[in-house]
Amino acid sequence: MSPAARTAEADGEPDLVVVGAGLFGLTVAETTARELGKRVLLIERRRHLGGNAWSEIDPQTGIEVHRYGSHLFHTSNEDVWRYVNRFTAFTRYEHRVFTVSGERVFPMPINLATICAFYGRHLTPAQARELIRSEAAPYAADGAGESLEQRALATIGPRLYDALVRGYTAKQWQTDPRELPGSVIGRLPVRYAFDTRYFDDTWQGLPVDGYAPWLKRMASSPLITVACGVDFFDVRRELPRVPLVYTGPLDRYFDCRAGALSWRTLDFERRTLPVPDHQGTAVLNYADVEVPWTRVHEFRHLHPERRHTQDCTVIAREYSRRAESGDEPYYPVNAPADRDRLLCYRSMAAAERDVFFGGRLGSYRYLDMHMAIASALRLVRNEIAPRLTPVLRRAAASSRGPGSGPVG
Ligand SMILES: Cc1cc2nc3c(=O)[nH]c(=O)nc-3n(C[C@H](O)[C@H](O)[C@H](O)COP(=O)(O)OP(=O)(O)OC[C@H]3O[C@@H](n4cnc5c(N)ncnc54)[C@H](O)[C@@H]3O)c2cc1C
Repeated sequence: MSPAARTAEADGEPDLVVVGAGLFGLTVAETTARELGKRVLLIERRRHLGGNAWSEIDPQTGIEVHRYGSHLFHTSNEDVWRYVNRFTAFTRYEHRVFTVSGERVFPMPINLATICAFYGRHLTPAQARELIRSEAAPYAADGAGESLEQRALATIGPRLYDALVRGYTAKQWQTDPRELPGSVIGRLPVRYAFDTRYFDDTWQGLPVDGYAPWLKRMASSPLITVACGVDFFDVRRELPRVPLVYTGPLDRYFDCRAGALSWRTLDFERRTLPVPDHQGTAVLNYADVEVPWTRVHEFRHLHPERRHTQDCTVIAREYSRRAESGDEPYYPVNAPADRDRLLCYRSMAAAERDVFFGGRLGSYRYLDMHMAIASALRLVRNEIAPRLTPVLRRAAASSRGPGSGPVG
């Protein structure tokens, strides 16, 4: 269908406006159009769909480059897996990450191969467990303490912590790990098996023909009108008075009235190097504080099944820092001051009529792609469908009260 015909068909009052065409917004728009037969206006500030999952073919090398860092699709949620397979097939790529510490390289997350290589010994799972237990034992009493460092020491002991965790975490958060809450790393995973995969989900892989075709297919319904390069705040007052799904930053929606929420941002330094292979893998972490970048991505390795040029390769060095105003927000910091502000914004969001907040920015929660999709599917089924379809609305009203606010 030509762009003009598509616009003509989709023209007219939308039933729903969605702000943000990341995987959350795209999933809401796609399911609202396909399952409910409703018209959707999808507004995106950037000039492309897909939020941070977007990738593009580098014109010089033909290599698919993930503009916002390597994105690996993985899920154990069958609904989500079935849903994404409507739009793309996936390769059988299994992600593996290695960490450079001094002159040595170890697989991450910490597993039996890491422990054997680090201590230079062949260990059985039971021997490795006992070794790590004895290393961590002197710190076990502090493990209940609040800091990331205390928690890590009580889990893996000082030697693995110093070599693999301390410097990397300090660079990632630009904060001494003694000052960071333990919740930042959650439960530090240690696998007592030679399982070097980064994810242990039931399904993982990369879209066979790339992210862009997948993401574009999600927005291809004639009922969806896409407006890229449009900032919601520039057009807010001109929009039709219909229900709105907002996936931009939660604080910005309310003009930061309760104070700005803090975020970590990333800088990517992309280079084309005149070698066929720079590092032999897709992602290398750099644990030492003396190395300014946290990770290096080499995109050709995400698709070993493709025939790539042998003349050169594309890499991106990733640097992490606190976001200033005007920076792209990537990871919520969740500092103590943020928690109070977040509560404030959540109650303001709950009071907003016919506005549904969701996604990574709208909920101020880090979400992987499968989590964003699952959360968007729930929003459409539980909130949008009853709101836009009177029969479903009456059924929902008899079973529960109205709901809005950030969705989980
Ligand atoms: C560096 C990095 C690496 C990641 N790696 C992985 C990975 O390997 N695997 C994985 O599963 N997930 C990964 N993710 C998560 C993934 O990129 C998404 O964050 C996740 O899918 C959530 O999608 P979303 O739609 O909520 O958010 P986003 O993808 O952030 O999309 C939000 C969209 O809203 C738009 N927007 C914001 N404000 C406005 C406005 N005022 N007007 C109009 N549009 C606006 C933004 O431009 C953006 O396109 C990674 C995230 C980051 C930051």
